[in-house]
Amino acid sequence: MEVKVIEAYRVQHSHHRLPTKGGIRYAENVDQHEVMALATLMSYKCAIVHVPFGGAKGGVKINPRDYTEEELERITRRYTYELVRRNFIGPSIDVPAPDYGTGGREMAWIYDTYRTLRENEIDAAGCVTGKPVALYGIQGRTEATGRGVFYGLREACSDVQDMKKVGMQTGLGGKTMIIQGMGNVGSYTGTISQQEGDVKVVGVGEYEGSIYLESGIDIEKLLEIRKDSGSILNYPGATVIPQADRNKILEMPCDILVPAALENQITSENADRIQAKIIGEAANGPISSAAEEILLKKGILIVPDVFLNAGGVTVSYFEWLKNLSHMRFGRMEKRFNQTSQERMLHVIEELTGRKIDPEVLRKVARGADEVDLVRSGLEETMSRSYQFIHEFQRKHNIDMRTAAFAYAIKLIGDDYTSLGIFP
Ligand code: NAD
Repeated sequence: MEVKVIEAYRVQHSHHRLPTKGGIRYAENVDQHEVMALATLMSYKCAIVHVPFGGAKGGVKINPRDYTEEELERITRRYTYELVRRNFIGPSIDVPAPDYGTGGREMAWIYDTYRTLRENEIDAAGCVTGKPVALYGIQGRTEATGRGVFYGLREACSDVQDMKKVGMQTGLGGKTMIIQGMGNVGSYTGTISQQEGDVKVVGVGEYEGSIYLESGIDIEKLLEIRKDSGSILNYPGATVIPQADRNKILEMPCDILVPAALENQITSENADRIQAKIIGEAANGPISSAAEEILLKKGILIVPDVFLNAGGVTVSYFEWLKNLSHMRFGRMEKRFNQTSQERMLHVIEELTGRKIDPEVLRKVARGADEVDLVRSGLEETMSRSYQFIHEFQRKHNIDMRTAAFAYAIKLIGDDYTSLGIFP
């Protein structure tokens, strides 16, 4: 028998609001400082999207590819046990979620372990978010970060002055995009931007290498090819960049570059060669601070991680609320809204003397399902937060990252003031 000691962390950055919240990542390069930095980022991120939580983050120093599913389950359950033992997890204490290298499967193991250890806790399902829908999760959580990235970029591209500065027309439609990372965040950013925003994805970077195709890559098709053949490099007709040079994809021509894999991908070494006009930080910390200076000097618009990838935590908040309420969203009002709308349409029929096509009637008169409400809540959150940050940016003539942090600090400060801590 072989014994392995695995290093793992959980950091809670700020208790100004409870519970604390932040994902758990499984990656080889996890260390204490990185987890601390990411937990700090979470405090600001929650404030920006008006989620009333403090920041936290977890990390397990493993490469999940080196372990079997059974071993991963044992690692996850043991990690959860250690969190419970230290009172570091619970619906009113600290609520983890997925991050790099983890997903619904790991969240289900965490929930099951927690529930086993705390069997009488009525709100146990709220101890972790990002759970599968069948296990107290919420519709629309898996896609939430990618969908949020789409809404955030759509807002950024709708400002006439900002688009003028980068020499482009307003609107997301028709713009070209390169995405690094086809995991949870990158794949949904790609599919939703294509299907709902009419964006053309011309490049994709992955672990095994990168591909570029000027006429456009169909992301759904690419995901199928990767699932069947194990590699994105088999996409027909695309120019292939081999694994050793995979990061060259970041330097290819496009309107919007979306790093959605790891941190520190754009550094002072490659920043000068970036050709994109907008960089949407879907990943956490993909641009080093030295690189940021170079990019800003080049006039590139950077939509910062602390805002752009906050869709995940926003919908996690909705999931936590659902768990505490013990009821799916829409259950109370769906039928009521549908009936009211049907009545309204029948009044219109009576007043005009014309019959409405039953197919149209079915489409128009419809109560919202959980997924409709989640998407609408997410869209509202991302749009509003963008407007607030943007106003701050204009007022103080600063870049968007500084504006986002200043806005978050102001919000956290206001909370303290209203609590009477700082008179
Ligand atoms: P994931 O594990 O689902 O996907 C990451 C993808 O990146 C994988 O497909 C992996 O093969 C690929 N990859 C790894 N190394 C690469 C390399 N050198 N070049 C190109 N691709 C590479 O992770 P995720 O959940 O999509 O997270 C990605 C980023 O988004 C992370 O920075 C994470 O912190 C951030 N994020 C995630 C969420 C979320 O809800 N999942 C929320 C906020 C922020």
